[in-house]
Amino acid sequence: MTDLKSLSCKELEHLVRERGLPAFRGRQLFKWLWQKGIHSFDEITEFSVALRAELSKDYRIYHLEQAKRLDSSDGTIKWAYKLKDGLIIEAVLIPEKDHTTLCVSTQAGCAMGCAFCLTGKMGFYRNLAPSEIAGQVLAAVQDLPPEQQPRNLVFMGMGEPLANFNNLITAIEILTCDLGLNFSQRRITVSTSGIAPKIVELGERTSVGLAVSLHATNNTQRDRLMPINRSYPIETLLEACRSFRLPPRRRITFEYLLLKGINDTREDAQRLARLLKAIPSKINLIPFNQSAGLPFREPDRNSVLDFQKILKDRNYTVIIRKSKGRDIKAACGQLFYQQQNSEDTALTGY
Ligand code: SF4
Repeated sequence: MTDLKSLSCKELEHLVRERGLPAFRGRQLFKWLWQKGIHSFDEITEFSVALRAELSKDYRIYHLEQAKRLDSSDGTIKWAYKLKDGLIIEAVLIPEKDHTTLCVSTQAGCAMGCAFCLTGKMGFYRNLAPSEIAGQVLAAVQDLPPEQQPRNLVFMGMGEPLANFNNLITAIEILTCDLGLNFSQRRITVSTSGIAPKIVELGERTSVGLAVSLHATNNTQRDRLMPINRSYPIETLLEACRSFRLPPRRRITFEYLLLKGINDTREDAQRLARLLKAIPSKINLIPFNQSAGLPFREPDRNSVLDFQKILKDRNYTVIIRKSKGRDIKAACGQLFYQQQNSEDTALTGY
């Protein structure tokens, strides 16, 4: 049965017209699904009993089941959601100085196999449907008080968003529709490990921001850390970034995970500065957050500051990202991984 929450407003209008109903019924339906967050057709009081019964015969309304919520002492909140097939996905609310950012997943597991990532270790299970991607935002919005409502959305949770491209685009359409949650595209950032051709397409089809997980400054290094680099090496990736249609006054965010003794030298910082020349960019330095199961070490504080200074001296905007939510394992995939490796496997459903 068609899952109505995986359809954009336009698609819903089309669907009701095909049933011989006026298009405005589709817009009403979209509002009920995404503004009121209904779970069943019976709740649509604007529709006749006959119409509700007719719709419930052919369609379903999918909603995420919250399996767990963890609150960190620093304000970070992590939700685990159980999908219909028992898979678990995660979303994380990250508090900033004057707003909050919600980070959502686009796949259950991930096929990219990045060496530093716990989700990568899980392997790939499946793509999330648009209703499961946008549904994480609705579930968080419904679970949070007004002062904690997310202002920004980042597609940076489990999975590679650009490997689930069509569902990602539909989810963005759903989330930015003014009859639904009405997020501005300016407040949305899509992160990628570097699927170069899809970067260009994303810029053509949306006006969201782009974050690129670079994490290395030469191909030998990056091949080892991120297997996607063997398909799209650094030069191809950066060429795609140069072609990405950036919204006015926006820059591409480059994420750089600092791994002690691997990519945190002064030479790396200098090379990074040369690579990003002529790309409107800002750089997030992320000192590796020591986790069980990964063979990397946290860089020394001084080498992190040194790395930042070299880039700043070359006029880059460089932010050292504090690791939030350490006490609840907020980094990508950690909650899942911890459960998978403990006796509490019932939650994962795998
Ligand atoms: S870092 Fe992102 S792309 Fe790489 S394995 Fe993890 S979830 Fe996948």
